[in-house]
Amino acid sequence: MKIAWLQARVARWGWVLPAAALTLLLAGTFYLDRQNANQLELARQEAGAAAQREAATLGEELAAQVGSRVGALAAAKLQFTAVEDSVSRRAFAAAVDSVISRVSGLSGISVIYPDPLGAIAPDALRRGRYDPFAIDGVPESYRKAIETRRPAASRVIDTPAGRRFLVFDPVTGDDTLHIRAVLVAEMEPNGILRAALERAQETGSLGPSFYDIYDDHGRRITNVPAPQGWPRVERPVRIADTEWRLVVAHQPVSEQPYEVIRTAIWVTGIVLSLAFALSLTLLWRMVAAQREEIGRRRAAEEQARQSAAEAAWRALQARRLTEQLESAQQMALRLSGSHDPEEVIEEFLGGVGEALEADVAMLYIFEEEDDAVVGRRRILLNPAVPRAEDLLREDFRKVRAPVALMKHLSEPVATGRPFLAKGAELAGTGPGGAGMPGPTALLTIPLTIGGHLVGLAVWETYGEGRLFDADAIPFAQAVTAHAAAILRAAELLESVGQAMEKASKEAVRLATVLDQLSDGVVLFDANGEPELVNAAAEALLGISRGASGPADWDKAFRSRALQKKAGGGEDFFPARALRGERLRDVRFTVRVQGSDRYIAASAAPVLGQDGVIRGAAVVLHDVTDEHEYAEMLRHTNQELRQQAALLERVNDELRAATAAKDQFLAMMSHELRTPINAIIGYTDLLDLGVHGALNESQRTMMSRVLDTSNHLLGLVNDLLDLTKIAAGRIDLRFEEVAVERIVRRAVDQIAPLAAGKDLRVEVKGDSDPVAVADETRLSQILINLASNAVKFTESGSITFEYGVDGDRARICVRDTGPGIGERDREQVFDEFYQVDSGLARNVGGSGLGLAISRRLARLMGGEISLQSEPGRGSEFVLDLPLSRARSTVPRDA
Ligand code: ADP
Repeated sequence: MKIAWLQARVARWGWVLPAAALTLLLAGTFYLDRQNANQLELARQEAGAAAQREAATLGEELAAQVGSRVGALAAAKLQFTAVEDSVSRRAFAAAVDSVISRVSGLSGISVIYPDPLGAIAPDALRRGRYDPFAIDGVPESYRKAIETRRPAASRVIDTPAGRRFLVFDPVTGDDTLHIRAVLVAEMEPNGILRAALERAQETGSLGPSFYDIYDDHGRRITNVPAPQGWPRVERPVRIADTEWRLVVAHQPVSEQPYEVIRTAIWVTGIVLSLAFALSLTLLWRMVAAQREEIGRRRAAEEQARQSAAEAAWRALQARRLTEQLESAQQMALRLSGSHDPEEVIEEFLGGVGEALEADVAMLYIFEEEDDAVVGRRRILLNPAVPRAEDLLREDFRKVRAPVALMKHLSEPVATGRPFLAKGAELAGTGPGGAGMPGPTALLTIPLTIGGHLVGLAVWETYGEGRLFDADAIPFAQAVTAHAAAILRAAELLESVGQAMEKASKEAVRLATVLDQLSDGVVLFDANGEPELVNAAAEALLGISRGASGPADWDKAFRSRALQKKAGGGEDFFPARALRGERLRDVRFTVRVQGSDRYIAASAAPVLGQDGVIRGAAVVLHDVTDEHEYAEMLRHTNQELRQQAALLERVNDELRAATAAKDQFLAMMSHELRTPINAIIGYTDLLDLGVHGALNESQRTMMSRVLDTSNHLLGLVNDLLDLTKIAAGRIDLRFEEVAVERIVRRAVDQIAPLAAGKDLRVEVKGDSDPVAVADETRLSQILINLASNAVKFTESGSITFEYGVDGDRARICVRDTGPGIGERDREQVFDEFYQVDSGLARNVGGSGLGLAISRRLARLMGGEISLQSEPGRGSEFVLDLPLSRARSTVPRDA
């Protein structure tokens, strides 16, 4: 346990160790580096300190040297006490010389006697070489010594003998106030330095350094400067009252060995720390890998253990499921054994209900378009459920509910999965409806076929603690899956049975109807085999239905019917119909019982709902009679054509004869007119008595001759007109004719005759139409009609009436004569026709007047019509085209 914990820590924090080692080693390296640097610093400091020491020694020595030389002055001073005279002067000079010769660096000693006012007597010092008091700064030092009564040093000056500086030392009397003289020591700085160095060297305290000395004015006294870059140490040196500066430049400490050490430290440190960290990391990795491996193995072991447990559990499940499936299968087998949907439902709901130990089982049919369910069947498996009596009384098939109303219906509809609910969530779903306690548990399983929801099966339990056994639900599901299919199959079977029954009834009816048809009907299947042949078809083709199979029938049909026109083989017309063609009026003949029978057939493909050709229908119509009629008609037509040709020939002959007749008549008329005119002329002459007066009887005879001749002339004239009209040789001169005038003229002409017969003549005209006509011929027509009226009327009146009728001018000649019967009404317009009443014969006439009148009227674009009743008079109406320019003649007011 501890080890595992440790391993876990190591795995988690293992990286810390190498990191710490790395850090530590690097820190150590850094420490060593610092140490090395300190060493260097120490060496430097030591060098500096040594230099300081040197400087101190040297400074002290310098000061001491100068001090000793001033001390030498003091000695000189002692001997100076009596230098008032020349002897003492020489003694002084000898003393000075002895001092100078003993003391190096002291090149001269002088005495200056200041005057009482303290003025300088420079000549005392001058020894022919130079005048120090002429050098800037020297008099000031002298004055300072006098003022302070203490020795004072001048700056370093250049003299012809070299660099020098002067120290003024005042010599006072016993009272010390009075300055007796000033001793001047001329010193050589380099000599003093050398003496100091020698002294210092004797003590052995000087190293290989450079020394520079600067006076109080900063002027360098030494000659060789210290090398650049050397560290320097300064020190003040007291020279009398001034302060000089001593600079010691010592050799710098060499850094190279330290750098070498430093590099060695760092290289070693880094290499060491990296190597150490790396090894630690590797170690950590190894530990981690090992731990991981162990973890993996443990997990695998764990998984294997779990898998084994799961496998065992699954095996158990599988066994259970197998058992359930077996019983479901048995149940399905039982279900599929039945073809009655009701039985299937009962078996299914009841069987599953028993397995679930349910109290009520229900089956709803799902209506997708309304999203509603309709009750199909409810079974009470336990008669003790609440309100059992009501449930039994209720017609479950009338139960209908929208799916959305109830969760136990809507949810399986929405998900397509079983729905299991219990307890409180079911309040209101039971048979009692809302407010009543619901079932204890409820299971809804959707019935689907091909993923399509068709219904819902519901099982319910009632009573405390009665829940469904969870293991029974897969069973219920499995059975439901089978039941949906079996139920659908049973329903389909039922409906197929009904449909087949209906179809067979339809087939019988169709066969009966087909057999009643006088036309033959043959239905071929898609392979061209005759499927249905009605009685008429058999009779038409003379093939017996029972006698042969379809193949034989087809052969017979082909051999009998089609060898002639309808064609055999691929062009056999039912075969064409089977290829989708629609054929009408395919004609062929069959020979049945020794006589030819003519048949007109039509054929069309029989299409299924999908538009695929399922067969062909052929209708055969017997057209033998039609054919015979047609033949007959053809014969008759031929004969008629022959007769028409004959008639045409006769007509031609007749036309020729008529032409000859017309010609003859024209010629004859012409030839007759001349003699008749001569007869009339001569008769007139005789009547006038040119050859002597005639007696009464002669006159009467003459009158008769004249009458007859006139009549004859009229006749000939009429004939001539008729032939002219017939030959089309009549010339008409069309002009605008005022009708009234022509009528008056005709009235005038017949008035004497009418008066002779005591007939009233009336003329009526509400307007005076202007007709387009040949005036002479119009007159002729009217006179003709008027004279006929007078001629055939014995009593009463003749009436003329004229006016405009639409776009026609209309003239009526009406009489109260015998009238004309219907039989003669048209014929009176024929040439030479006279009504056979004896009257005509009495009054005479040729029967040409009306014929000529109608022809003339028609030539002028008009017409003559007749209205008459026998015994009630006649009315002849002439109408003519009106003038377009002016239809009537305006009447004078
Ligand atoms: P015609 O008078 O010379 O015999 P028409 O052609 O004029 O010849 O007349 C033919 C016949 O029509 C007459 O013979 C007569 O019988 C009959 N007919 C003509 N006009 C009248 C009439 N107004 N009333 C009775 N009959 C008439």
